[in-house]
Amino acid sequence: MSENFYDVLGVSRDASEEEIKKAYRKQAAEHHPDVSDDDDAEERFKKIQKAKEVLTDEQKRQQYDQLGHDRFTEADKRGATGGGGPGGAGGPFGGAGGAGSAGGFEDIFNQFFGGGGGRGGRGGGGGNRPRQGQDLRTGLTIDLEEAFKGATKEVTLTRPSECDTCGGAGHPPDADVETCPQCNGRGQVQQVQQTPLGRVQQTSTCPRCEGEGELYSEDCADCGGDGVVREEATLSVEIPPGIRSGQSLRMEREGAPGENGGPKGDLLIEVDVEVGDRYERDGDDLRVNEAVSFPQAVFGDTIEVETVDGSVEMDVPAGTQSGETFRLEGKGMPRLRRRGRGDLYVQVGVVIPESLNEEQREALEAFAEAGGEDVDVGGGFFEKLKSSF
Ligand SMILES: [Zn+2]
Ligand SMILES: [Zn+2]
Repeated sequence: MSENFYDVLGVSRDASEEEIKKAYRKQAAEHHPDVSDDDDAEERFKKIQKAKEVLTDEQKRQQYDQLGHDRFTEADKRGATGGGGPGGAGGPFGGAGGAGSAGGFEDIFNQFFGGGGGRGGRGGGGGNRPRQGQDLRTGLTIDLEEAFKGATKEVTLTRPSECDTCGGAGHPPDADVETCPQCNGRGQVQQVQQTPLGRVQQTSTCPRCEGEGELYSEDCADCGGDGVVREEATLSVEIPPGIRSGQSLRMEREGAPGENGGPKGDLLIEVDVEVGDRYERDGDDLRVNEAVSFPQAVFGDTIEVETVDGSVEMDVPAGTQSGETFRLEGKGMPRLRRRGRGDLYVQVGVVIPESLNEEQREALEAFAEAGGEDVDVGGGFFEKLKSSF
């Protein structure tokens, strides 16, 4: 459960490498532990570096997109990324019933039947031990307002479901049964392979009975012997306020059916929050840009700032520089399953007029003549300016 790398850098999912690098430079300048006062600057900075490392490496980025943030991070910790594919030998999902090899969320049904296969593919062995069904994954996109308030959303998906006709057994109840001759009822077979390192004995699920140890004279007509059929389901999902892109919601017992009376797996819904054009999201904080006029910046003023829950007044002090950032405490996003809210950072930009009327021109010329070019911009101005771009 953590913020995804795209959000960390503040770029969209289809950002080019150039955009990512640019965003990285901006974020790195802003959050460098040497310049930032934030307590967690160092941690933040590391996150930014990690995000750049992954997203600018084509192979890693592809894996990241495929696995989602949490699974990628998990695999990365084990050193399983960067090498073979996620379903490959070094990957954490080899033999997990194909969950790692599914191309996209749409193909949720194939998460179950794809790759390593269906029945017997999970435990890698036979026996009639009850086994929990697989976890399935799907995705859901919401907007910032929904992430702010929380929402109830419907998710429609096609998922494997226990066949009603045979109760998941895969054969009619009165079908004749015999012990599988290939594995003698053990559900597993042993193969000896000749490798450069010598003979290797491998145990695998019996292909004939798919690990059941038994063969039935007749397959169930509705599920073809799988015990599982496709089911279209529409589920209602409660989105808690404060959720971030890349976080997953777990719906217990909404996944694939279990085996031998085992419980169903869970359904994991990865949420993508579309932030929109106005805001940038940085964890629970939001950032916006506001324009002020030259006189407002010089003399100070109170401006209206639109926030996620209505507009508020903000004081712009006299002598405000273009690029200066102000913090509106508690005006950001709610903290997920905690009290309180993040902050809203308002960066003001001073708008230089593109054309002036006669009176304005004269006034400004008088300002210049009175020494306007030698205005003391005060200490730290250039540092502030630098960190704002
Ligand atoms: Zn059936
Ligand atoms: Zn067999």
